[in-house]
Amino acid sequence: MPDDSRDGDDPGPGGTTPTDLDDTPTVSCSRCDREWDLAYELDDLGVGNQAIEQFALDHKRHTGHFPDDVTTWLAKCRRCPEGSEHLVRHAAERWANIHARHTRHSVEIEHGIDDETTVVEPEDAE
Ligand SMILES: [Zn+2]
Ligand SMILES: [Zn+2]
Repeated sequence: MPDDSRDGDDPGPGGTTPTDLDDTPTVSCSRCDREWDLAYELDDLGVGNQAIEQFALDHKRHTGHFPDDVTTWLAKCRRCPEGSEHLVRHAAERWANIHARHTRHSVEIEHGIDDETTVVEPEDAE
């Protein structure tokens, strides 16, 4: 008997559409007791991670705190009041390196995920 059973394997019209709006990430904030979906940010920026970062930074700017599940990296100069908070490590490191390079100040980076602190010395940033 010939194996002729390949019929009826048609995937049909309901295939997967990975870019559907169902994938819209949401962010919640227990301090505000609210939850938001990021369709607006996604529309604007098109990238999931960036949308979450942008939302978190906007939320901080307007409310003074970050939403839930957001960890930040805080680069803080030891010699002057300059500082900068970032949502990704390399951005904080970049800020620290640039500041150390231009000002010859030492900059601390406080980690978002643990209590460790990294110090960027001006010599490291040459
Ligand atoms: Zn909030
Ligand atoms: Zn400084």
